[in-house]
Amino acid sequence: MNLAKELEIAKTIARMAASVCQNIQEELVVKAEKTGREPVTIADYASQAIIGHALAANFSDDAVLSEERSEEYMLLLSNEQRLQVQRFVTDALGGYVFEDDICVWLDFGKQKQEQRTWVIDPIDGTKGFLGQRHYCIAIGLLIDGEPVLGTLASPGFFSDEHNPPQDIGALTFASRGEGAYIEALGGGKPVPIRVSAINDPLRATMLTSFESAHTDMTFMDRVERALGRKRGAPRRRLDSQDKHAMVATGMGEVYMRLVPDSNFREKMWDHAAGCAVVTEAGGRVTDVHGQPLDFTTGTRMTNNRGVLVTNGYLHDAILAAVASSDI
Ligand code: AMP
Ligand code: MG
Repeated sequence: MNLAKELEIAKTIARMAASVCQNIQEELVVKAEKTGREPVTIADYASQAIIGHALAANFSDDAVLSEERSEEYMLLLSNEQRLQVQRFVTDALGGYVFEDDICVWLDFGKQKQEQRTWVIDPIDGTKGFLGQRHYCIAIGLLIDGEPVLGTLASPGFFSDEHNPPQDIGALTFASRGEGAYIEALGGGKPVPIRVSAINDPLRATMLTSFESAHTDMTFMDRVERALGRKRGAPRRRLDSQDKHAMVATGMGEVYMRLVPDSNFREKMWDHAAGCAVVTEAGGRVTDVHGQPLDFTTGTRMTNNRGVLVTNGYLHDAILAAVASSDI
C-alpha cells in the first residue's frame, strides 16, 4: 500500500488548516477577547472548507466523514460570520473565495460510501482552542474501515511542558507500514517517534480529557485503585487527539476515555487519525472492553464502548483493571 502522496497532501492540508485556526485564534480570541463559541464556529467551518477544497482537488473519488455541513452553515451563521469565514479562507488559499465555494468544500465527499474515507476533525478540542491549550486538526484515512493514515497538526503541543521549545507546534503523522514521525508544525525534519517502554502501571502517566464531562472520573479512580496507583501517581489532563500523539511520542503511556453517559458512543473523527499515528508508533488501541475499534459503522462507533490507548506494554494490565472495576 503506497500512501506517500496521500500523506504528503494530508500533512500540507493539516498545516494550512492549523495556520488558519491560529490566525482566527489570534484575531478573535486573543485580541478581541471574545467569549462564547463564535471563534470556534468560524474556525471549524474555515478549517473544514480548506480541507475539503484540497481533498476535492486531489482525491475527487474519495468519501469524507466530518461534522460540519453547508446546510447548517447557511442556516446558523450570521452574514457577518460567513464573511469572516470567507475572508480567512480567501487569505489562506490566495484567491477570492465565494460563499458557494465554501458550501461545496464543506460538503465534499459526504453521503457516499467508498473503500477510501477521509475522517476529519477540523478542530478537535474546541475548548482547548478557546482556552489556548491543546487542540489539533485531525485528518485520518480509512481504507476498508482500517485507519491506515493519520496527521495531527497541534499548535499547542508543547504548551504546558516545563521547557517548551521555541516553536511550540507539532505535526505528528503516520501511514501504515512506514512508521510514525513528528515534525515542527512550521516545517522541519521528520523525527521518528516510538511509544515509551514503561511497563509498570505505577509509573505510567495516565492521560484524560481536560473536560470532566468527557470522562467518567470516578471510573478512572476505580481503575487506578485496581492498578494499585496511589494519589499523586502521574496523570495529565489535556484536550484533543494530542493525547494519542503524547502516547505515540512516549510523553504519556495510557489514554483512557469513558464518557459518563453509558449510551454515548464515540465519534470516529475523535479517534481515526490518532489511532493510525499511535498504532504505527507501536501503541495499542481498543475499547475499554478490549474490543478492536470498529470504524465501519457510520459516524459513531456503535460497536464500541469508550477507548483505551496505551503504549502496548500496559494494555492488558489496564484491561484487567477495567474488568474488575465495575463500569
Ligand atoms: P477531548 O478533547 O478529549 O475533551 O474530546 C473532544 C471531543 O469530545 C470532541 O471532538 C467531541 O466530539 C467530543 N465531545 C463533545 N461533547 C462531548 C460530551 N458531552 N461527551 C463526550 N464527548 C464529547
Ligand atoms: Mg473532536
